[in-house]
Amino acid sequence: MAITDNQIQQAAVTIDNYIDGSWKAPASGKRMPSLNPARRSEIVGQVPDSDLGDLNEAVKAAEEARKAWRKLTGAQRGALLFKVADLLESRMDAIGRAMTREMGKTFGEAKGETARGAAILRYYAGEGMRPIGDVIPATDAEALMFTTRTPIGVVGVISPWNFPVAIPVWKMAPALIYGNTVVWKPAAETAVTSALVTACFHEAGFPAGVVNMVIGEGALIGQGIAEHSGIHGVTFTGSGAVGKRVGQIALARGAKYQLEMGGKNPIIIAADADLDLAVDATISGGLRSTGQKCTATSRVIVVRDVYEAFKQKLVEKVKMLRVGDGLEQETWLGPCASEKQYETVLRYIRTGIEEGADLLLGGQLPEEPTLGEGFYVTPAVFDRVKPSMTIAREEIFGPVLALIEAADLEEAIAIANDTEYGLSASLYTRDIGSALAFIQEMEAGLVRVNAETAGVELQAPFGGMKASSSHSREQGQAAIEFYTSVKTVFVKP
Ligand code: NAD
Repeated sequence: MAITDNQIQQAAVTIDNYIDGSWKAPASGKRMPSLNPARRSEIVGQVPDSDLGDLNEAVKAAEEARKAWRKLTGAQRGALLFKVADLLESRMDAIGRAMTREMGKTFGEAKGETARGAAILRYYAGEGMRPIGDVIPATDAEALMFTTRTPIGVVGVISPWNFPVAIPVWKMAPALIYGNTVVWKPAAETAVTSALVTACFHEAGFPAGVVNMVIGEGALIGQGIAEHSGIHGVTFTGSGAVGKRVGQIALARGAKYQLEMGGKNPIIIAADADLDLAVDATISGGLRSTGQKCTATSRVIVVRDVYEAFKQKLVEKVKMLRVGDGLEQETWLGPCASEKQYETVLRYIRTGIEEGADLLLGGQLPEEPTLGEGFYVTPAVFDRVKPSMTIAREEIFGPVLALIEAADLEEAIAIANDTEYGLSASLYTRDIGSALAFIQEMEAGLVRVNAETAGVELQAPFGGMKASSSHSREQGQAAIEFYTSVKTVFVKP
């Protein structure tokens, strides 16, 4: 099932599952539509609505494939990942276009994410050549003691729609390089994009069964992965409610699991901040991808001395952002990814107003009549938000910024920490003492000074504290902890 760029530009491609090296229709024959959020009547693809029989077949194939796959050298596995990277890069336009049409982010961001996917694959291809253990002095002088690592087995990958290339690739690439096989359940909303990614693995020459993709409802196929006794490790990125459940199910049956969930990420603007840079970081971190990033800035905590000046500059710039179809070059932010997201964002905007926050701008449908068919919301800025308000506490996952005033930096950090989440946090300041206090006090897995909350470096550990994560880390060399088990070896002649 090779899908061409031409086909992606037309409506409704039909997508199959990918099991044991072949494209297969779901056994039930049932499919569901993947829709374009920029034009709700446009179907991008008809995608499998799989059942547990399809999942079982994929797990069986992954189990059989792992015996030979784990015996390859890291360099051999890496050579295949390099090929996937090349294919992904050469198809950046087709994959980017599918992504924009399925979930609305701008074409530029979608292509950037695809390029990021290729970079991640190359990074892990190289990891196949790195040392993986330590030699430890034994108490017996004749003995040799060392650690080595073994793959965990079949890894179940459950991924969301908001980064449909980068997130599954940053899970699958380390899973594969360390000798595991994969059963991937992408979000159905971005299943066409996922099939294009899977096609790269297929065409790179991965042995049958090493990578499998099963598309279906989260509550059936996602939960099926969490429950499946043939899956040895489950890696999940998505909402907190689903993640907790996936973790509980995996824990109860003794499987390894890793969860990356939501955020309510703060940016703090100190009195000595460069306000222009801070405004740009707030807009980029909070509103790129229509605010649908787990690391998106959503609480903007501004120290009193500069509150009014910062607010004015922010509003001036947000007003200029152009909302539209992500495929059009002049668009700065696209629609919400789905009707569900759109309704959620509008509900939070109503709640913000009801609870007494002051909506300075946005939060409406754009005026252009041509956009009436899409799930568009103009970027919203709320003023005078209190830390106790719903819009300051719950993850919105949309283009909504909440401005909160703090008396000083100490109070700003206390407000920033007053949340169940702990994924990413930023501070804008020119003062090294303020920066160090923030780094020490902030309860977040990603702590950034004079940089937006949403920046992610693929070679560095990524993950949250508190309810944002199961506290393991993805990306970089940290990924080896989840995708392998340590064996301590003691050998005596
Ligand atoms: P979601 O939890 O609804 O879905 C995530 C995945 O889980 C999808 O593949 C979905 O089909 C599947 N799923 C749904 N119900 C399931 C169930 N009962 N059992 C098992 N799997 C199930 O999340 P979403 O709406 O796709 O993504 C948005 C959320 O993801 C936000 O909360 C966001 O913060 C979070 N996110 C976190 C990170 C991170 O790295 N921390 C990155 C991106 C997104």
